[in-house]
Amino acid sequence: MPSPTRLTVDLNALAANFHALEAATGVQVHPVVKADSYGLGAVACATRLMAEGVRTFFVARAAEGVGLRAALGPEPVIYVLDGCVGDTAPALKAADLRPVLNHGAQLATWRAAGSGPCALQIDTGMNRLGFRPEEAPEPFDGLTMVLSHLACADDPSAEMNARQRDVFAAVAARYPGTIRSFANSGGDFLGRDYAFDAARPGICLYGGGPEGRPDPRIRPVATFCADILQVRDVPAGESVGYSRGFVADAPRRIATVAAGYADGVLRSYSPRGQVWIGGMLRPLVGRISMDVCAVDATDLDVAAGDSVELFGTHRPIDDAAQAAGTIAYELLTSITARVPRHYIG
Ligand SMILES: *Cc1c(COP(=O)(O)O)cnc(C)c1O
Repeated sequence: MPSPTRLTVDLNALAANFHALEAATGVQVHPVVKADSYGLGAVACATRLMAEGVRTFFVARAAEGVGLRAALGPEPVIYVLDGCVGDTAPALKAADLRPVLNHGAQLATWRAAGSGPCALQIDTGMNRLGFRPEEAPEPFDGLTMVLSHLACADDPSAEMNARQRDVFAAVAARYPGTIRSFANSGGDFLGRDYAFDAARPGICLYGGGPEGRPDPRIRPVATFCADILQVRDVPAGESVGYSRGFVADAPRRIATVAAGYADGVLRSYSPRGQVWIGGMLRPLVGRISMDVCAVDATDLDVAAGDSVELFGTHRPIDDAAQAAGTIAYELLTSITARVPRHYIG
């Protein structure tokens, strides 16, 4: 069934971003494919990344790892950032997944389940997940990686970045022979002294940021398009949409587009949102409904069936995110299952 909305994923651009991150960091790149590769489809993205040479991935949840293992086969190493949660240890072991152990109870659970390859997360100041440096356990058999996560990598001027890096370097030195992984997407552009042994980017692979604006080395990957369902002339003084969210100050031509919040077009995207329509950016008008939104198409040569772009190759995702008061990560992961994903490349 053809769909009036679609998310097109350019796997060649994904591959190009992967190689750009390799070049920026000078170390191995271990892609983060959690949350279904930020909504783009983890199996398709990871399969292409394997063709580009990747042999290590990160997911967040055990279930994501189990699904990826079934799809990718036995070869790649898959780390689970949640760690060894609840009674997931047997499932982790059965799928040959490596938990990122975050605290002593997780380490004890993993040991009780028979242990096996795993990583340790060190909390170097974010106070989110991981062992505090002074609580970090002694080196043990099966430990293959130590990692930590930057809190302010999207702000190169933040002095916390260097502080976390130095704490991490000191703690990681206690675990000789393990892979040290530190930098996410933002960290990959902070300099080689942030790279350690393996980078761990997500959003830049998928075409966002890292600093809330497009980096020239990163290409757009996801393009979110929807078809116009109807074009209408609205006389001056009449309103558009729920609650008269927009009132025409002059005669306007309004295109009603088949994309609403049930597709992932956040309601916060109006009133500052813009879409690419008829070869230019035009504002969204009025409230976003569940299934449709409205665009000012005055003086444009557009008709029902024409496609508009909410973000992608013409409307940078970071600009769209800023207009919606959020970040590219949330825009991508908000696109719902109703929107079919199409892959090119
Ligand atoms: C999500 C996540 C990443 C990837 O972050 P990006 O900013 O998308 O590059 C890396 N490491 C950890 C621990 C994460 O949770």
